Amino acid sequence: MSQEDGLKKVISHAKEYGFVFPSSEIYDGLSAAYDYGQLGSELKNNIKNYWWTAMVRMNDNIVGIDASIFMHPKTWKASGHVDAFNDPLIDNKDSNKRYRADVLIEDHIAKIDKKIDKDVSKGLNRFGDDFNEVEFRATNVNVLRRQTTIDEINGKFKDAMNAEDLAGVKTLIEDLGIVCPVSGSKNWTDVRQFNLMFSTELGAVSGDSGVIYLRPETAQGIFVNFLNVQKSGRMKLPFGIAQIGKAFRNEIIARQFIFRMREFEQMEMQFFVKPGTQGEWYEFWKEERKKWHSTLGLGDENYKFHDHIKLAHYADAACDIEFNFPMGFKELEGIHSRTDFDLKSHEEFSGKKLRFFDPETKESFVPYVVETSIGLDRMFLAVLCNSYREEDLGEGNSRTVLSIPFALAPVKVAILPLVKKDGLPEKAREVLSKLRLNHNCQYDEKDGIGRRYRRQDAIGTPLCITIDHDSLNDDAVTVRERDGMTQERVAISDIPAYVESRVGMATLF
Ligand code: ATP
Repeated sequence: MSQEDGLKKVISHAKEYGFVFPSSEIYDGLSAAYDYGQLGSELKNNIKNYWWTAMVRMNDNIVGIDASIFMHPKTWKASGHVDAFNDPLIDNKDSNKRYRADVLIEDHIAKIDKKIDKDVSKGLNRFGDDFNEVEFRATNVNVLRRQTTIDEINGKFKDAMNAEDLAGVKTLIEDLGIVCPVSGSKNWTDVRQFNLMFSTELGAVSGDSGVIYLRPETAQGIFVNFLNVQKSGRMKLPFGIAQIGKAFRNEIIARQFIFRMREFEQMEMQFFVKPGTQGEWYEFWKEERKKWHSTLGLGDENYKFHDHIKLAHYADAACDIEFNFPMGFKELEGIHSRTDFDLKSHEEFSGKKLRFFDPETKESFVPYVVETSIGLDRMFLAVLCNSYREEDLGEGNSRTVLSIPFALAPVKVAILPLVKKDGLPEKAREVLSKLRLNHNCQYDEKDGIGRRYRRQDAIGTPLCITIDHDSLNDDAVTVRERDGMTQERVAISDIPAYVESRVGMATLF
């Protein structure tokens, strides 16, 4: 299955089973906006819960907040978003299609990268077992020539962006001979900067004074509350403030399903530390976040750390955790050492001191910040794509299964009376009543047991509990496990503890 086909299958499966729907679909949808359905919202809640438990509950020195989406407009002046939260855009005059100039250049580079990969696989074919890829990449003339071209393009683009030379970016696109994928022409407009913040007006006030923004990140709600939380919670450095919430960006091109949306959710944590210790804490959080991902079992080989070459104006170190999505390795989470930029800037714009008083040294100072920032929707997509499988079971049988990590699965247990009579439904409902307070369960009595298993496989339910005629006598049930399709008999009295031990959030800790 090609990577694109893989994503297409996941998208249609997500719609068919109630995970994700296009927003306002009866009006043909709204680009880059999606709704989470009955199972999607369960999965999303479980991911949030895993993150919140790991970050807030399991750490003495991290607390969580829920700040509002609307903030005083000066917030976004102070954070730099009004002046610098831009993407360079360019239009093709023949197709009237709009592109991000940086993405056109990145795509061009990706094509050269693919050629390098081809050189490497040719080398592998030629030299077989004796092939040394590292040495080949470092010495092969074709690879070196292509790599030099990539470095030159990157250098020119970085220089033009740093100098705010948008004409230079256009010249680069023209010099590289980049054509519009739709019209095939090189008939480009000038490159313009486009601010990604959505704005609206507050109440009845119109004009510039009433303009407010939908927050493009949740982090600023944490910075402006730094002192409120520190004082009311009597927090001592180092300490963290975590938050899960919506963010909005008027992305120029929003493709690839829920990977890039205009309204999305972030899970962010700002960790306030003593100046000078940010390097250690940056490494600490890189390691912690790696563990969080690794515990889920999506496969360590599907994650890559990618250090930022060009740091944002506020950062002294930054990296992305990339995930192997169907469209390749792409950013899932960012870890940034943001220095004291944000708090200092808010001090300046608000005129309020945002400092920590150290009772030991009797000094007061602006703390440094290390941030972890993960997109909830991207994490959802990572889980969904990673778990989608079409399995051949032999003898003409197959199944589609979502092998979602047990503790995250939207439905944890399906309760299935073997037949719809003989007192089995009543017995099944007894079992259901023991579980439903702690776990999301589904009761299903329609169709044969095989079809019911397949339905549960397709939505990723880890455990199916079947109540048969023997259950009426021995007070035991058959538990079938999703991945291995193994079955075991468990006493009904043991079922709550059994289920908890297999699918409870505690299994991740
Ligand atoms: P990208 O380079 O993909 O645009 P970014 O570097 O701008 O992302 P950050 O500002 O670091 O992203 O935001 C933190 C996280 O929020 C990202 O790692 C990503 O998971 C998520 N995120 C950012 N933009 C979007 C979006 N448009 N849709 C969904 N998730 C997003």
